[in-house]
Amino acid sequence: MPTYVFRCGRGCPDFAEQHSMATAPADTPCPSCSGQARRRIGAPALGVGNSTGMRVQDATRATADSPDVVRSPPGSRRRAPLTANPLHRKLPRP
Ligand SMILES: [Zn+2]
Repeated sequence: MPTYVFRCGRGCPDFAEQHSMATAPADTPCPSCSGQARRRIGAPALGVGNSTGMRVQDATRATADSPDVVRSPPGSRRRAPLTANPLHRKLPRP
C-alpha cells in the first residue's frame, strides 16, 4: 500500500497515511487541528527500503560496474560423451 503525505493549511506538520491507490482520499482530517489536510504530490520512494527487488537491482548494478576479479581461468571439466555410438569416436575432433 503506498504512503501518501498530507499537509494541513493551518501550518501543522505534514503527516503520512497509507491508503490503497483506489481509495486514496484527496483530503483527510488533520490529526493536530482536525482541519482539512490536502494530499501532496511527492516523489515516489523507489530507492528506499530493503526489499528483494532493490537487493537484486543493486547486485546487478554492482556486477555491471565492477565485475568480480577472476584469478584463474575456470577449470576444464571432462564432459560426458555426446553419443554412445563407438563409430563416432573415430570422427575428427575439433
Ligand atoms: Zn492541522
